[in-house]
Amino acid sequence: MKTQAAVLRTVGLERPYTKTTPLSIEEVHLDEPGPGEVLVQLVATGLCHSDLSTINGTRPRPVPMVLGHEAAGIVRAVGPGVQTVVPDDHVVLSLVPACGRCVPCQTGRPMLCEPGVRANNAGTLIGGAHRFHGLNGEVMYHHLGASAFSEYTVVSEGSITPIDRSIPLEEAAIFGCAVLTGIGAVVNTARCEPGASAAIFGLGGVGLSAVIGAALAGCYPIVAVDVLETKLELARQLGASHTVKAGQTDTIEQIRSITGGGADYSFEAVGSANVLGQAYAATRRGGTTVAVGLAHPSQNLQIAAIGLVAEERTLKGSYGGSSVPRRDLPRYLALYKAGRLPIDRLISGYLSLDQINSGFENLADGAAVRQIIRFGDPG
Ligand SMILES: [Zn+2]
Ligand SMILES: [Zn+2]
Repeated sequence: MKTQAAVLRTVGLERPYTKTTPLSIEEVHLDEPGPGEVLVQLVATGLCHSDLSTINGTRPRPVPMVLGHEAAGIVRAVGPGVQTVVPDDHVVLSLVPACGRCVPCQTGRPMLCEPGVRANNAGTLIGGAHRFHGLNGEVMYHHLGASAFSEYTVVSEGSITPIDRSIPLEEAAIFGCAVLTGIGAVVNTARCEPGASAAIFGLGGVGLSAVIGAALAGCYPIVAVDVLETKLELARQLGASHTVKAGQTDTIEQIRSITGGGADYSFEAVGSANVLGQAYAATRRGGTTVAVGLAHPSQNLQIAAIGLVAEERTLKGSYGGSSVPRRDLPRYLALYKAGRLPIDRLISGYLSLDQINSGFENLADGAAVRQIIRFGDPG
């Protein structure tokens, strides 16, 4: 079949993206789903910093690539052997396809799925397939097994979670990356306990979801840190008890003062080794620092090794919120439906596919939290 898709052909173009237009809207060819694969008609796809990291080269990936991964849609066809979804199911996509059989998958850590991560790095589906091609036959790469800036996509069965049909797909989309990652960092990676103090650095979709997760977990105080006053205001509305403007000389001191000596848990959701160092410095003795943002591969973190021992500090990585999507997504969506998670407040606006470059410009300059591409009435 043919489908309209946003294709990245050149990595590292300068801003403003409204002028350099890193993504081109193209008609491309999409193959039928193969064994274990599913054809999904997208309804909504969020613009995420991981897409931006691919556009600007922080996360180098092969091109031409159909970007987009934070998405929800409707199953339209299934390939041979697919057992857990049928046509017309509503599904949320997640950022690592899970094979279900490797050791990480078998031990409750599907975000570390070995064939899944290999496929994501190679820009293929989990079996190695390329289902997108240019109309001239050129091979196109898949983004995080999803390639959801497209009216239709083919994904592995392990990339999708069927969901409650009563939840609007336009809102469900952001659960697949921002919410899974942000709440998961708090409840799965850190396992914050009620009354523990938390500091969250960087208030994009992931950081604000971590604020929501910290409120859900009963953390107090919850200190939200960002350079933008608009983000701090939103964080207060979403459950942050205190906010600290980043970039001041006494940022760490302010957090120590609010938390009575340092946070029990701190979360870095910027993707900067420098900020990760600040997050580490903002924890108390015995505290835990969780790295959530993706830093450029060239960045190194320097900390005093003695602190890990003599102060029993912990430094943990959290990829995709250490999530189990088929366990966590239905839970978070049920909480959302019950009015317990103000996730809709993260949505800054809706765009059509051809407005995608201006959307990424808004994301890059911090003007937007989550913008959602709408693909029109799925019928
Ligand atoms: Zn696996
Ligand atoms: Zn993402």
